[in-house]
Amino acid sequence: MDKKITIISGASRGIGRAVSLRLAHEGHFVIVLARNAEEIGELEHEIDEAGGKALAIACDISDEKQVEEAVNQVIRDFKRIDCVVNNAGIGVFKHADQLEADDWDRVMDINVKGSFLLTKAVLPHMKAVGKGHILGIASDVSKRTFAGGSLYTASKYAQHAFFESLRREVRSLGIKVSVVYPGLVDTYFHGEAQGEVKQAEYLHADDIAQAVSYILNTPPHVLVDEIMLHPMCQEW
Ligand code: NAP
Repeated sequence: MDKKITIISGASRGIGRAVSLRLAHEGHFVIVLARNAEEIGELEHEIDEAGGKALAIACDISDEKQVEEAVNQVIRDFKRIDCVVNNAGIGVFKHADQLEADDWDRVMDINVKGSFLLTKAVLPHMKAVGKGHILGIASDVSKRTFAGGSLYTASKYAQHAFFESLRREVRSLGIKVSVVYPGLVDTYFHGEAQGEVKQAEYLHADDIAQAVSYILNTPPHVLVDEIMLHPMCQEW
């Protein structure tokens, strides 16, 4: 198998789906993870029909056992993992006194613990071969805050800190860690359907996929620490 074996979390919709389609087109064997088995099954089929290679594994990224089983299945089938795109994420936007403890747990479990669990599960396999590339899809609000964003921005700041620390732990082992920080992107994330007029000026999901592709296609001696992208309509 000379194709790169690449796991993408949150692949059923939005950015994760665009990243999966682009990387499959570029020759990666993409392992597409999300909870909705039907949607990732359809994505696997769509990629296969287009001449690419994909495997759908239904997985809740916040569940340690499910994440370990998904990674074990990839290792059983392919013997290695080259790249991981930690993309799965949700947002809950309320003022702090309106947030429920359950909101807090859900967002932190998916956005922060999910990135940690998938990274923890793949690291031994990358360490064993002395190479690999771990990517995080964080957010521009990993670096700025806004009213109503206390929970979501806390989760994205935490994701930023996690990947930045991780880079310092594994760079000397030959493992790259890169983070993409998008501004507004036209996906299902904002409670609208992708393609709605309201989001017409936002970044397209494939703009993020192109950034991911650039990062993953750098030569071995180059490490892209981070890329931040905004639509022209959004002030930073
Ligand atoms: P989206 O269209 O709502 O897609 C979210 C994806 O995450 C779906 O595939 C969903 O699949 C998956 N997901 C959610 N909970 C999951 C779980 N527990 N386990 C596994 N997968 C899960 O949103 P998006 O805009 O593409 O968001 C992708 C990432 O980009 C997120 O981390 C988000 O924070 C970040 N981001 C988005 C924007 C934006 O403006 N859209 C800007 C900056 C950063 P299932 O529901 O099937 O599990």
